[in-house]
Amino acid sequence: MTSRRTITFFSMIFVALFAALLGWLHVAATPQDQSVQKKQQMPTIEEYQPKSTLVTKEHQIERAKFPFIDIHSHHWNPTPEEVDRLVKEMDTINLRVMMNLSGGTGERLQRTVAAMKGRYPDRFVVFANMSYDDLNTPGFGKRVAVRLEQDVKNGAQGLKIFKDFGMELKEFPGRARPPAKYPPFETLMTERNHLFAKHPKTNFIAAHLGFHGNDLERLGKLFDANPNVYVDIAAVLAELGRQPYSAHDFLVKYQDRVLMGKDIYEVNEYKWYFRALETRDEYFEYYRKRHAFWRIYGFQVPDEVLKKIYYKNALKLVPGIDAKAFPQ
Ligand SMILES: [Zn+2]
Repeated sequence: MTSRRTITFFSMIFVALFAALLGWLHVAATPQDQSVQKKQQMPTIEEYQPKSTLVTKEHQIERAKFPFIDIHSHHWNPTPEEVDRLVKEMDTINLRVMMNLSGGTGERLQRTVAAMKGRYPDRFVVFANMSYDDLNTPGFGKRVAVRLEQDVKNGAQGLKIFKDFGMELKEFPGRARPPAKYPPFETLMTERNHLFAKHPKTNFIAAHLGFHGNDLERLGKLFDANPNVYVDIAAVLAELGRQPYSAHDFLVKYQDRVLMGKDIYEVNEYKWYFRALETRDEYFEYYRKRHAFWRIYGFQVPDEVLKKIYYKNALKLVPGIDAKAFPQ
């Protein structure tokens, strides 16, 4: 009896020791191994999708309430077939006129104008881009002016100058702008604002809420100081959607200065813009996590404001769009 109890006792100690040893070995796995393991287990921002238990009203808006103009889109060298498909898709969401900011210059611009505006004159506006290939050869300014004049003769209706600089460094490390090579954000903003102030008779549409979507008060001050400055909401909807009260009040106050735009074209992604602008839906998922890991809220603006954002402001700014295709 005694010996059996002893054996049982010792085997219990042994088991306990063994368990402790296993635990120790586990802990003893090098910190590097552990951090690698942890990293492998850690979901990426795209994979992290906690389900919301919120039950509230939802509106799926597949089609904009009014016909609208997309002031900020990119279509590089589209073929006639691609343009045909594009127009069919545009019709399904009430997208009446599309601004292609990537028309290029010279022959490429001519081709793009022919494929888009040449075949659907009321549906497209093509902007020219400057070519910087010969930037360092003397006489650049003069040559650019000549090229631009020719591009306008060939059908360009505007000029896109600023390059987008996104903050999507993890997925697109190539977009990193190391401080040694590039000027800091505030320097760029100062230079840009200087350009706005220096050319009061030129209208500027600053893309992406002028990069101030996270600080609408600052954007308001920019508007107040420069009556020639406008913005689009392309690719920064999540900034407005995370501050629905401020966004609503801002859009009402500056209703003459904000334009609808989407940036990268994808017909199925416009509905987030419709839902945010047209409803008061709450806490819904956004379409692109690298822009926003948060959910957004609708900030429904009055119809009169909506019309300005959707088309009236663009009609005022971009020459040659047929206003008859839009309600009063
Ligand atoms: Zn863009």
